[in-house]
Amino acid sequence: MPASPGPRIARLLSLLSRRRIDLFLCSRMTNIRYLCGFTGSDGVLLVSPDGATLVTDGRYSEQSRREVRDADVSISDRKWMEVARRVRRARASRVGFESRHLSVDLFRLLSRGVEEKWVALHDPVEGLRMLKEESEIRAIEAAAVTASGALLAVLSGGWKGRRESEVAADLEREMKAQGAEGASFRTIVASGPRSAMPHAAPTSARIRGADPVVMDFGACREGYCSDETVTLLPGRIPPDFRRAVDAVRKAQEAGIRAIRPGVPCREVDARVRESLDRAGFLKYFGHSSGHGVGLDIHERPSLAPRSKDCIREGMVVTVEPGVYLPGVGGVRLEDMVQVTGTRGERITYLPKTISGPA
Ligand code: ZN
Ligand code: ZN
Repeated sequence: MPASPGPRIARLLSLLSRRRIDLFLCSRMTNIRYLCGFTGSDGVLLVSPDGATLVTDGRYSEQSRREVRDADVSISDRKWMEVARRVRRARASRVGFESRHLSVDLFRLLSRGVEEKWVALHDPVEGLRMLKEESEIRAIEAAAVTASGALLAVLSGGWKGRRESEVAADLEREMKAQGAEGASFRTIVASGPRSAMPHAAPTSARIRGADPVVMDFGACREGYCSDETVTLLPGRIPPDFRRAVDAVRKAQEAGIRAIRPGVPCREVDARVRESLDRAGFLKYFGHSSGHGVGLDIHERPSLAPRSKDCIREGMVVTVEPGVYLPGVGGVRLEDMVQVTGTRGERITYLPKTISGPA
């Protein structure tokens, strides 16, 4: 057993002790990575006040030896049987598990005969992950710098006449060339009327000179994601669309200004919606105003009307209002914001609209 738990496991243990959980089974890989550093794609982390043990299989014996900190490692080619054996042996009176991530089949296998001891915990580790350490924020920022640099490189030759899918592929390649592990999610390049679909996948359509283009993209570095959206504007913009762009810009500013420790996340979302409403565009905005970013591209907190979380120092959230005019086109502006002791500060540095030649 390790002499003392690492700081992340220690924070988890204090949370578990408040719920009177004496053994916790962590099965979600990003949470396991967060707690003990293991980046493999298969394993289970058991955490108790006596220590933490990663159970994984022979494919990962060398990798786990190099990566895992703050936990012992147990290699077994019958991993779930080994987990079941360890759970039985621990004689825990309350076993916590991630109800969002453990399959029903595995739950049945592990809890057979002692179901009443198993306590469904929604997302305890995600709750811890909301508050980033300085090194995590710097990793997210580094991912953003890589992604932004790659975007500028790809756009430097212009975009008119190029296929959406080519621009997306070039951007993902450039992010890797600049040191990213890859894209943090599938790049969105949506031009013309397709830009009115918030999650449009790139198509083989060629970008026309008069089209707006929504580009939502991010890089992954050291496991941490970045997330940012710019809207490319044609040289000449119809007045109605110009009003939409201005409305989204104002709404984004209103959202970022509202970010302060202690403010409910749903209030930040409300400020964004009020601003769009004043400009007459609220009915064209159909998603949440933002989300946390970290090891996952979307994580807690959500900046949405039903969010129960509050803004706290150390969070990294996006603020990403959009206006989507059916048949015409869309505009979305997205930055990542780090929450300091007093306010939100952008950690994405590109201008959010980029204009093409007139
Ligand atoms: Zn995005
Ligand atoms: Zn986002």
